[in-house]
Amino acid sequence: MVSHDEARVVQEQLEDLHRRHLAIGDDDVVSFYPPEAVSERHRFGIATSNVDGTTWAIGDADHRFPLHSISKVFTYGLGLEDNGREATRERVGVEPSGDPFNSISFDEVNNRPFNPMINAGALVAANLVAGKDGEEKVARLLDRVRRYAGNPDLEIDQDVLAEQMVSNDRNLGLSYLMRSLGMLHGDIEENILVYLSVCSVTVTARELGAMGGTLANGGVNPHTGERAMAREHVRDVISVMSTCGMYDAAGQWASDVGIPAKSGVSGGIMFALPGYFGGGVFSPGLDVHGNSVRGINLCRELSEQFGLHVYADPAESRFGRIATPDRRRR
Ligand code: GLN
Repeated sequence: MVSHDEARVVQEQLEDLHRRHLAIGDDDVVSFYPPEAVSERHRFGIATSNVDGTTWAIGDADHRFPLHSISKVFTYGLGLEDNGREATRERVGVEPSGDPFNSISFDEVNNRPFNPMINAGALVAANLVAGKDGEEKVARLLDRVRRYAGNPDLEIDQDVLAEQMVSNDRNLGLSYLMRSLGMLHGDIEENILVYLSVCSVTVTARELGAMGGTLANGGVNPHTGERAMAREHVRDVISVMSTCGMYDAAGQWASDVGIPAKSGVSGGIMFALPGYFGGGVFSPGLDVHGNSVRGINLCRELSEQFGLHVYADPAESRFGRIATPDRRRR
């Protein structure tokens, strides 16, 4: 457990980080999703969740926003559990595509989408989730995201879902193409509804932090003690987060921040440092890749300041300040 004094020092450091990044203008912001989210441009929250249950939350950590692409992590996790590693790998790869999240590109050698963190792969992951129909699949996924977050009341925002279902040509195009190539099976509309339903679940940065903390804690929510996913697949999920989680900026993120993470177009970023802690950041201004500008900048500095980069020289690591591993809980 982090000592009381250490916890206070970390809280002050995080508050300082938050204050400074809030004050920096949004010159690098190129868009908001949806465009009306521009009215939320001032929102900025961060929360972390250690495997020992310690949490920090700063700024708009209780403001709700849709998961969007962050949901791909959980959909893939359940697809893996339902089908096993080998069968899942046959349908969706684990290679970064280097293309934008909604690009129409596939691993043609293996006849599958490159990875489950871009739309093509996430649509196949939704296809892999077990259930007699779309409704059952959505119910199973919702149950899982609630466990990750430790909040049994998480819900799908029906307005967000309806809006996405009508501005969905790209996902429809991808799906028809993939079905014609044998990558996707069954009813396309139903499959998209499964995928977009989880995208439309709203969370807070605090909950996102707990979701990352659950992944960091081997699939068990560090606050509730409930298991959200099978332990043997946690490494598969965190691996693709680290190589593909930030879309076509994944390499830059790996090099600058060095913490497995997943972003979504609503401006959220979830990260997980296995054995230590998870976190969630929210700020809606996006860069050209669809990643939160403030979120990225803050995480870059957070990693630097606390020595969190997983590939850094161990002498530079100052993990202990923010989290100590507690394997009894894993
Ligand atoms: N729901 C969005 C879509 O499929 C998710 C996109 C994202 O967050 N990058 O278009």
